[in-house]
Amino acid sequence: MLIKHRPIQSWVVVGGGTAGWMTAALLGKVLAGTGARVTLVESPEIDTIGVGEATVPSFVDLLKVLGIPEPDFVRETKSTFKLGIKFTGWQGPEHSYWHPFGNIGARIDGQPFFHQWLKSQAYGNSSGYTRYSPSAAMARAHRFFIPDPQKPNNLTRMGYALHFDASLAARYLAGYAQQQGVKRIAGHVVDIRQGSDGRIEAVALKGGGQLQGDFFVDCSGQRALLLGDALKVGYCNWHEYLPVDAAVVVQTEKRGTLQPYTEAIAEEYGWRWRIPLRHRTGNGYVFCSDYCSGDRVAELLLNNAGGRPVGDPRRLRFVAGKREKMWHRNCVAIGLSSGFLEPLESTSIYLAMRAALNLVKLLPGRDICPHTEAEYNRLMDIEYESIRDFIVMHYCTSRRDDSPFWKSWRQRPIPPSLETKLALYKSQGRLVHNDLDLFAEDSWHAVLTGMGVFPRDYCPAVQASDPEKTRALLDRIEYSLEHSVNQLLSHEEFLRRFIAPQ
Ligand SMILES: Cc1cc2nc3c(=O)[nH]c(=O)nc-3n(C[C@H](O)[C@H](O)[C@H](O)COP(=O)(O)OP(=O)(O)OC[C@H]3O[C@@H](n4cnc5c(N)ncnc54)[C@H](O)[C@@H]3O)c2cc1C
Repeated sequence: MLIKHRPIQSWVVVGGGTAGWMTAALLGKVLAGTGARVTLVESPEIDTIGVGEATVPSFVDLLKVLGIPEPDFVRETKSTFKLGIKFTGWQGPEHSYWHPFGNIGARIDGQPFFHQWLKSQAYGNSSGYTRYSPSAAMARAHRFFIPDPQKPNNLTRMGYALHFDASLAARYLAGYAQQQGVKRIAGHVVDIRQGSDGRIEAVALKGGGQLQGDFFVDCSGQRALLLGDALKVGYCNWHEYLPVDAAVVVQTEKRGTLQPYTEAIAEEYGWRWRIPLRHRTGNGYVFCSDYCSGDRVAELLLNNAGGRPVGDPRRLRFVAGKREKMWHRNCVAIGLSSGFLEPLESTSIYLAMRAALNLVKLLPGRDICPHTEAEYNRLMDIEYESIRDFIVMHYCTSRRDDSPFWKSWRQRPIPPSLETKLALYKSQGRLVHNDLDLFAEDSWHAVLTGMGVFPRDYCPAVQASDPEKTRALLDRIEYSLEHSVNQLLSHEEFLRRFIAPQ
């Protein structure tokens, strides 16, 4: 018999960074018309982290879910398009490869493209795997285009994301969320009040006053005020797998053409990013503090950023890992409060977005079912662990040994799940894939082959294909991609038209 539903009347989101406003926006949209109130409280004393400017394609999907017009968001947040990441120096100074978004190639004789390509290598094809990626072809040429799904062509299976100004994005989402009825309070939380059953009942604000709620979302950033401090949920520390624990960031003036991709350049103590925005460039050097001081890294970053700095370099610290559970009692942690994986593949905002989407998918009532909480935690664990493995793979497959940092990877353990994945891949190019994995097989194959890691053999299912015919087809795909891309607008011109007021 159906029991009477006791809906949550009052949602409280603590924190107004990208995670807080993204979650509030989604809750506001989903709960519109239900009578539930969503309140976001953000401290006037504590800034948002102010980084987090590169995304993955799902962010564009989130804009669609929210009904936010993409040109409007791109215009207001000074965004550029991102077709993937160019990795430089990961196997040595002259080495570079692409991790493009979207699909690579297409099935040949009904068999997966990767195995057909692998077999073609055994028959003399020297073109790399990502030569068959529409996004990589556009990125190399600094051109851009969004295919019309109604008019499929050889670029249709490209993928793209955005680079945006983090502060402008949080402001944009704040405006949108408030239009959906979310109430904003400027207040500094000084205490968390819990009932006798351990559930959070209210957050107390500096200067008096408190905010009561039925359900609380902890978006307070690395502090994790609610789930960590108050509810005492521990942290799984993944430092042994991902030792980088610090970053220096600096913005520089815009220079040269706008690249439609993020750059990730391997350095002596870690790696450095370059994110092009329309008004400036974001730069950061992510490193392991066991091997170098922040002062020295700041100096290296400024020497290599390649543009005049806008402001002083900022230093950040973090610990790779995640909360033991991200939903506990009547509280969910979303964003940096739930964990952090270094920004090599720009996955933090994605994780916050997944968390918010999972929360609305498993929307609780006031009587929270323990199975709902467990399912949410299970889903988020899978997301975190699969992204962790993908990031570790970039380092553990490097043969660099020119500094103590890079040498340390020889002794470092790798997660057992990744060990299994790599062993299976190395035998016949197969991957253990989970439907929840952010990074599809094409991504794993792009990075593994980019790092020079190849399977010993290809899958026997492609044995029947005629190598000459396959080769002719591959040449045609490569040629037609180059040809089509050369007809496109430059990234800069496409952006100019895309954001022009209609
Ligand atoms: C070096 C580095 C680079 C990164 N690059 C990327 C990237 O390229 N792509 C990506 O996806 N992610 C990246 N990230 C992660 C990304 O920055 C975050 O995931 C994202 O900004 C979300 O942060 P947040 O909202 O959880 O926390 P924050 O931005 O820190 O916001 C915390 C909020 O909590 C509020 N708050 C704190 N204490 C209180 C209190 N007592 N009372 C009331 N309010 C309070 C603050 O005022 C603030 O509004 C990067 C992170 C780092 C460290």
